[in-house]
Amino acid sequence: MIGLVAATAAGRAASAALAAAWGGDARVYGGDDQSAGDALRAAFAECDAVVSFLAVGATVRVLAPLLQHKSQDAAVVCVDESRLFAVAVLGGHHGANELAGRVAEVLDCTPVITTASDASGVAALDSFGADLGFVIENPGRLASVGARVLSGEPVTVFGAERWPLPALPPNVTATLCPAEADIVICDEIVEVREGALVYRPASLVVGVGASRGVSSQEVLDTIDAALAAGGLAARSVVRLASVDAKADEAGLVEAARTRGWPVVFHAAAELAAVEVPNPSQVVAAEVGTASVAEAAARYAGPTRPLADLVVEKVKSPMATAAVARLRPRGRLAVVGLGPGARDLLAPRAVTELRRASVVVGLDQYIEQVRDLLRPGTQIRASGLGAEEERARSAVELARTGLAVALIGSGDAGVYAMASPALDHADADDVDVICVPGITAATAASNVLGAALGHDHCSISLSDLHTPWEAIERRVRAAAEGDFVVSFYNPRSRQRDWQLGKALGILVEHRPGSTPVGWVRNASRPDESRGLTTLELFDPAVVDMYTVVTVGCSQSRIVGGRFVTPRGYAWAR
Ligand code: SAH
Repeated sequence: MIGLVAATAAGRAASAALAAAWGGDARVYGGDDQSAGDALRAAFAECDAVVSFLAVGATVRVLAPLLQHKSQDAAVVCVDESRLFAVAVLGGHHGANELAGRVAEVLDCTPVITTASDASGVAALDSFGADLGFVIENPGRLASVGARVLSGEPVTVFGAERWPLPALPPNVTATLCPAEADIVICDEIVEVREGALVYRPASLVVGVGASRGVSSQEVLDTIDAALAAGGLAARSVVRLASVDAKADEAGLVEAARTRGWPVVFHAAAELAAVEVPNPSQVVAAEVGTASVAEAAARYAGPTRPLADLVVEKVKSPMATAAVARLRPRGRLAVVGLGPGARDLLAPRAVTELRRASVVVGLDQYIEQVRDLLRPGTQIRASGLGAEEERARSAVELARTGLAVALIGSGDAGVYAMASPALDHADADDVDVICVPGITAATAASNVLGAALGHDHCSISLSDLHTPWEAIERRVRAAAEGDFVVSFYNPRSRQRDWQLGKALGILVEHRPGSTPVGWVRNASRPDESRGLTTLELFDPAVVDMYTVVTVGCSQSRIVGGRFVTPRGYAWAR
């Protein structure tokens, strides 16, 4: 929930504009009988974020006594009386920077971001790996290590390559020795150098077995003994796991609650299938699996690979514990860049480009977004034609554990990279995130007017991968079905007859006066377009940077625009 607090008429008007734009996500605080200070305090206490239309100074004075820690406090953005700026005041990396951007979009003002790492595009260390569950062991080192990363001094990192992390700038280089590193990402308790910043990755699962009536203290002691046996950090524990017969074992549930660890219970049949070093027939007879602690530590769900056992079971009179290390999965983001214009690129696509450490794509598309990539991002650019290889290499890189963005123009799932990539990425291997982009057909339709107002389809005229007979069959079906048709890949130097042939099929089923629009380089600086009719259209005017849209029998040209009626009764 975002709290909105205003004291003046102008502030209340701006606050109402945000409330209208955000609907149920926002709540206006304050009223006639409440002072602005009280309203701000209430909003700060009850919301995840606050937009204050009071001055920065006034806001800070009211909230200063209430501040706890940036990870807990509501993020605060202040907007000035003239609506010129949205200033991220508190919790920049905990929502305020992003919120300032959202406010700026609605109020059409400038977001003011003062956190250093964002200004320079370098990944912020205090949220580094946060979405992977990383916990910072010693937050007191953040400022000094962060300053060195930003100032360009040489900084070394240990353990980053195992995780799909965003790029670190080029002055941060990998080392294989944790004792020499300035940044250590490690679930083992290792010697580190003075001043090093230590991240505990979310990597360990503790399997726990317990006899009826075990005390929570005994469970915790056994878990601690297992962690100590492996020299492992408790902060890297992601969860406890056991067999479902123990789901109501109070000592186990209480132990998990005490440390704030989630606990999961797996079916005995699932655990019985897990290979373990120390099975027990006694346990098998009792709960239906020969191992509880070791098997539950390893079992990660039906579609995930088994975790690697790192500590075999440790026993106490009434409890057992074993520890396994999860295999990190790489991250593959398939990102559509839209038709070309920067403001038609989705904000989510920008987030994914900045989340990646490797970006794979055609060189011209890389150039389109190069300025958005974080310093240190590896770039794998390739020329036209190497689609299959590009898709495969992106998946292979993600498989090694990296965060990879595979980019394509328009929507990456439309005649583009998503399907060849996902053909190679089976579910267990990598996490896949697909970000939609505005595809050429809709970009063109909007340039032309409202060409896709009723049923429509897209057909690619490229017969390099699809036999012409199949393309022709689809064109015929679209003609008979009276669909509006957007032709992708309409014409190139080698493929110069297909478009004429396709239009010849369409004109058998719709009038010669049917609108035909073409848009070349939609939304790019050299965008051009044309609008004519089926009988007058000359296919020679288009090339492979063009989409050609042919209306259905109901489409018309209205005021110089291509309009396909929606066909509602009220339109008659
Ligand atoms: N994934 C892309 C399509 C790739 S196929 C998308 O969703 O838009 C390549 C074809 O798309 C080109 O031959 C052209 O027909 C069309 N195309 C892509 N971008 C375009 C643009 N900005 N303007 C017009 N046509 C475009």
